[in-house]
Amino acid sequence: MDTGIRLSMFWVFRGSAPEGDAVVPFYWFQAALSLYRNQGLMARKAYAFSSWLCALGALSLGVGHGLFSSHPFGLFTWLAISLFAVSFVVGSAAHRPAMSVATFAALTIGVLVAARYFESHDTTFGTPVRVESAFLGLQLILIVWIAGGLRERMSHDTRNVAVDGLIVALGSWVLVWVVLVQPSLNVDSALMTTIRAATVGASVVVIFLFVTYFFSAAPQSSASNLFGLAIVFELVGIVLRAVDARTDVQIAIATIDAPFVIAVGLTGAAFLHPSIRRLTASQPARLSPPLMTRLTITTASLIAPIIVLALIDPSDLTDRTVRTISVSVLAVVVMARVIQSVRSNAETQSQLVRNALTDSLTGLPNRVLMIDHIENAIENSWRTAKQPSVLFVDIDRFKNINDSLGHSVGDHVLTELSTRLLSALPATSTVARIAGDEFVVLDTNTESPTQSVLLAEAVLDAMRKPITTPDGDMFVTASIGVAYAPKGIRLTAEDLMRHADTAMYRAKNAGRNCIALFDDSMLETVSKRLDVETALYRALERNELHLVHQPICDLDLGLVVGFEALMRWDRGDHGVMSPADFIPIAEETGTIVPLGSWAINDALMQLRSWIETSVCSPNTTMSVNVSPRQLNDPDFVNVVSNALQVSGIPAPQLWLEVTESVMITEPEQALASLRRLHSLGVRIAIDDFGTGYSSLSLLQRFPVECIKIDRSFVNDIVTDVASRNLVKTIIAMASTMGADIVAEGIENKEQLAVLSSLQCRRAQGYLISKPVRVHEIPELVERLQDPAMWRLLTSD
Ligand code: C2E
Ligand code: MG
Ligand code: MG
Repeated sequence: MDTGIRLSMFWVFRGSAPEGDAVVPFYWFQAALSLYRNQGLMARKAYAFSSWLCALGALSLGVGHGLFSSHPFGLFTWLAISLFAVSFVVGSAAHRPAMSVATFAALTIGVLVAARYFESHDTTFGTPVRVESAFLGLQLILIVWIAGGLRERMSHDTRNVAVDGLIVALGSWVLVWVVLVQPSLNVDSALMTTIRAATVGASVVVIFLFVTYFFSAAPQSSASNLFGLAIVFELVGIVLRAVDARTDVQIAIATIDAPFVIAVGLTGAAFLHPSIRRLTASQPARLSPPLMTRLTITTASLIAPIIVLALIDPSDLTDRTVRTISVSVLAVVVMARVIQSVRSNAETQSQLVRNALTDSLTGLPNRVLMIDHIENAIENSWRTAKQPSVLFVDIDRFKNINDSLGHSVGDHVLTELSTRLLSALPATSTVARIAGDEFVVLDTNTESPTQSVLLAEAVLDAMRKPITTPDGDMFVTASIGVAYAPKGIRLTAEDLMRHADTAMYRAKNAGRNCIALFDDSMLETVSKRLDVETALYRALERNELHLVHQPICDLDLGLVVGFEALMRWDRGDHGVMSPADFIPIAEETGTIVPLGSWAINDALMQLRSWIETSVCSPNTTMSVNVSPRQLNDPDFVNVVSNALQVSGIPAPQLWLEVTESVMITEPEQALASLRRLHSLGVRIAIDDFGTGYSSLSLLQRFPVECIKIDRSFVNDIVTDVASRNLVKTIIAMASTMGADIVAEGIENKEQLAVLSSLQCRRAQGYLISKPVRVHEIPELVERLQDPAMWRLLTSD
């Protein structure tokens, strides 16, 4: 309840107001008004309930009037008028319907009541012609009202609905003519007959509009239904009056009046209903317009006149003429409706087919249609010297455009590209969009692979100009795979498309924005890779993986201070596979997550056993490589802490090696994981340092405690001054950061000597030892920690 109501009610119940008793009625009034206007759920329900109660009252009054009234304008009529008046005032105040609705309703009821009043009372105004004209006026008002409502509310399918309405109206007209108009033609004066015929004719128009309104997709509400019902009763009244005008039928005046009484009450009921507020508001169309009802009524309107015409013979020439004209018009309208139906059906069908075969954004053919085109092109190629070429065009980094600028910009780019492709390619080419950012071009006029590549170059050229978007100009590139169907080899459309797709991947791998022409070796590579991918899924459960360990030594102490665990995949007949070959695939497919977890567990358990058997000192460290994909796994930190717990290795003895790429691609996510690991006590090392593009500011944000200088710098350190200076700088930087330094890939004594002179304390490389299998470690460590060995390594 709003505060206005609450305050007013409070004063009402207290029985006095602060200003004194004199203002109490004012508060009563304010409280009542607030209640009227309050459109809370309870109030709405109360209004809806009273509206239906009022409708029930209207029906009872009508029936009561028909059964018990002796005077046409008796007690029941006055009660119905009062019901209308009260509902009209209360409803208008509470729901504030549109001005036009209130005006038309008041006018209709006013004219109706006045016409009936003058007809049933002996007044000077009540001459038959004037009363009859009032009824005609009433129908005209209704026509204007419903037509106005129709124009505002009807959206689509207007034509069909209107033609159906016309059929119903014409059917009714035939009935009305045969049953009402024709028999009363010569009863009254010509003027009277004309006005009465006009009234009945206007009623037919009302039926037309009314039926059109209720058949349409315009949303319907309780208020509109109540108005509809009121109109139906009003029409029944008009029909009864017209029947009464026939000489052979006599209807009691109270019976004629009953439907009018009901119509008056129902109009009032419509005003009480809260939905009257939205009667003229624009609303979404009904999802399921009453198709079945429409069909039933339209069919009935066709059948009823046929029966009536068959049963009642024409009485004279005029009758026959009117019947013939009416039925002819009806036949023409029905024919028009049938033609319209068939046409719109055909349109819908072709639209459906179009939707199934084309891409809705660009209007280009889709994959299904393109396959069809390629199939046809292959089929027909034997006739000429030409062979079809297929280009697979994939937009580079399109996901970035969608993600950073939004899908509408992405859509704009795609439509612009499709237009450019169409205008850049010859008429013999067909362009299709087969997926998000993938276009396929088919050309049937190429004679050699060279020509296919030239076509692909034309596509790249078309993309060179910037695309204007609301966010500024944008440059888009594409990777194109080209497949040419050679003569003499039977290829299917799917084959050709797959070849082009394979070549496109080659273009992507070659650095994007380029063209790759398909050759058979590509298929071999693809199938090999597929082989590796599937075998990798099984590698863990088949125990095909193992770790080798490479010692990390302290140059000053001559001790093995740690190991780096490196993964090996023993593929049986295929031999041992290097991680450089399978780790990238594992990263791409996500198998690196379980493989990496296994590596951490295995490495720590191994270290535990070496410490327990005194192979190495209790504070020896274990370095394990971690890829970006693992850091993005929400469970990764748990995996690490579990591995530490199970092995009992203190967290600071685990080094996780990540490359600079981790910091660049998804810094925030990686940062979060690394910080959590760091807080566990685990140490983070940057592997292959210097080969990536990380900036110092990025480096500063990460909890880095060790930097591993990449092998490429160590390689040249003896001969190349620049490399040596770079390593010197890296070491200085690490020491200011408080991070350790490990030099990787030391292969000879000279490199070791230079690194030693640069104050690099830790070293790893083939000079000290290659990565070795677990069982070789005890002997290796013993050998390495022999002082004679160090003397040998460090002597000239
Ligand atoms: P990395 O982490 O930089 O490992 C060092 C690589 O250099 C190892 O190659 C090692 O055998 C090699 N190496 C060590 N000393 C020398 C040397 O003196 N000369 C030369 N030429 N090479 C040396 P490997 O074992 O083939 O591993 C290659 C890369 O695969 C690793 O580079 C690492 O990035 C990745 N990797 C290996 N195991 C795993 C793993 O368990 N998980 C993840 N995510 N990556 C791994
Ligand atoms: Mg490493
Ligand atoms: Mg490395």
